[in-house]
Amino acid sequence: MSTRPEILFPLFSSLETLTGIGTKTAKAFAGLGIEHPRDLLFFLPYSGTDRKLCETVQGIEPLSTLTVEVEIGRHFPPSSKSRPYRIDVHDAKTTFQIVFFHANEAWLKQHFPIGQRRIISGKIEFFDGVAQMAHPEYVLRTDQFKEIPEYEPTYHLVAGVTQRIIVKSVKEVLGRTSSLNEWIDPELKQRENWPDWQVALHSVHAPDGPNDLSINAPARQRLAYDEFFAHQLTLALARAKVRRSKGRASSGDGRLQGAVLAALPYKPTQAQTRAIAEITSDMASDKRMNRLLQGDVGSGKTLVAFMALLVAVESGGQGVMMAPTGILASQHLENLRPLAENAGVVVEILTGRDKGKEREAKLAALKNGDIHILVGTHAVFQKSVEFDDLRLAVIDEQHRFGVTQRMELGAKGAAADVLVMTATPIPRSLELAQYGDMDVSILDEKPPGRKPIKTASMPVSRLDEVVEHLRNAINSGQQAYWVCPLVEESEVMDMTAAEERFKHLRAALGEKNVGLVHGQLAPAAKDTAMADFQAGHTKVLVATTVIEVGVDVPAASIIVIERAEHFGLAQLHQLRGRVGRGSVQSTCLLLYQPPLTESGTKRLSILRETEDGFRIAEVDLEMRGAGDVIGTTQSGLPKFWVGDLEHQAGLMKIAQNDARKLLLDDPDLTGTRGQAARVLLWLMRQDQAIRLISIG
Ligand code: ADP
Ligand code: MG
Repeated sequence: MSTRPEILFPLFSSLETLTGIGTKTAKAFAGLGIEHPRDLLFFLPYSGTDRKLCETVQGIEPLSTLTVEVEIGRHFPPSSKSRPYRIDVHDAKTTFQIVFFHANEAWLKQHFPIGQRRIISGKIEFFDGVAQMAHPEYVLRTDQFKEIPEYEPTYHLVAGVTQRIIVKSVKEVLGRTSSLNEWIDPELKQRENWPDWQVALHSVHAPDGPNDLSINAPARQRLAYDEFFAHQLTLALARAKVRRSKGRASSGDGRLQGAVLAALPYKPTQAQTRAIAEITSDMASDKRMNRLLQGDVGSGKTLVAFMALLVAVESGGQGVMMAPTGILASQHLENLRPLAENAGVVVEILTGRDKGKEREAKLAALKNGDIHILVGTHAVFQKSVEFDDLRLAVIDEQHRFGVTQRMELGAKGAAADVLVMTATPIPRSLELAQYGDMDVSILDEKPPGRKPIKTASMPVSRLDEVVEHLRNAINSGQQAYWVCPLVEESEVMDMTAAEERFKHLRAALGEKNVGLVHGQLAPAAKDTAMADFQAGHTKVLVATTVIEVGVDVPAASIIVIERAEHFGLAQLHQLRGRVGRGSVQSTCLLLYQPPLTESGTKRLSILRETEDGFRIAEVDLEMRGAGDVIGTTQSGLPKFWVGDLEHQAGLMKIAQNDARKLLLDDPDLTGTRGQAARVLLWLMRQDQAIRLISIG
């Protein structure tokens, strides 16, 4: 089925096919993200109004909505244009007034004939203790009473879209739905007491009261589950495709690993050992590995990656490791080379700066297998880069490497195993949403002997004190990063800020003691600056956020972050992770410009409270919402209309298991439930998934 099933056509036609919606309203709807009738189905009310019939206005709370039967009484036309038109109405117990501003007298006379009975519904206000209802929302004859819903849903609006249009359109779209074959596992559905799809849709748009609006209402849960299930099915299809594609069975004899481990000044942590074992066993199987290594900053992911790369080499093949920046790639080379060469392993680097003959030579060496391990930037994935026998691709620090890109990499067809590493701890629910297609290894332990980082915040007015403190620190042999503020996302402006601070600190701390690195520097200059700092020639490194990820200089024990309030939580956590890597006590100083916003205050105080990346990630998620935390567009994560990643992590997990299970039972989605699931994928616009089935 590579085209949309007909049963869904009416839901994907243009909005203008709905009664009363023209170009203008359709445009306005786009402001709510509603582009097709289908979208209206999943655009759920956020609140509701109780319109149950009452006997009287007596005893009602001000500003609440009242629905009541009344007899129309006297009319009081206004004495001047600026005053309202008033009409007495008598309910079962008392008299109050309905009020109209800028009213047409003739129209009112016709619609509110004295002595007749009407049912009116609207908001009650009190003026000088007298109740009134301005512009009733409903005015009906008593025989039309049924037209008022007892509980009326309220939807978010934008200019040009009224509640009435939404209610009416939703109703019309509901009429276009059909009962669809069930894609949810019958046992699950029964256990959770979830309604059928179509029933659920009707029910979420016709709540009986506030309980029906809660995310725990069965109908809402079911629809949330549908979204998660469709997403997990996409991920599971991608995963299945990778696993089905032939992998290479790479098993080493442990010779190189052993040599490297013996030369290390430390022992791997238990978490590292476990991750290495998981990866080694994946690589030994002839299924293609697709694994995520997640570990907080400083947890030692690099060693795990090296061990995996050595397996590739031990088994006679090659490995590649891609880093997001040239600085990181050089660092990997520096770290790996001495260890590897000891064991007879050849490591090279390839980045965008390799040009001409040198590049040719590297490419040739790679192709004939003379280079065993290649590290580099994204340049290593270019078409012209060919390997003799690539067995493992490691992608380091790619927290912004989304589902879509991963699928593309997978589609490249190489049989190489894939290991993705991320330092951004993300809450479980997001992890499942973003990495549900992968198997996950977690480094939940840091190397021993690390001292907690002391984190303090202070206003930037105390900068001179900070510089003084820094002078003492470097005199006693310490090293420090000085991170300059982010300026409006502009690298050029960042650079200016960094250069100014560089000059200032050089003047204060001595020319030779201070280095500078930022994104605008020539690659060679970056290398020199990093190398000088690494070797301890410079004591203070002034930097922009280019050092945010991965940079590892264990001797550095101080980090000063200027205008810390401008950074996001995750970023601050990453930056702070540059220190605390050795056994010395480290310090992080967060300099801010008062006054702090509420969110700024909260971010800085969480950072002072904890170093636990997972805890920080949870708070980040709470403060910013899921889309911002992973960057929805980049991550390829769909926008969930009903599902709530923050509060429905459990559902996401169930969806993942169920999706994987369904594919195990019915890999091509051709069975009854499989077919139903295809319809769901179309309904949820999971085009990628559909492509995966149609190709596969
Ligand atoms: P990240 O997970 O942030 O990439 P790294 O791999 O850069 O962390 O490791 C952080 C630091 O910890 C490095 O200096 C590394 O040499 C050191 N390290 C790694 N594993 C261990 C270990 N088992 N014991 C002691 N130090 C370790
Ligand atoms: Mg790293």
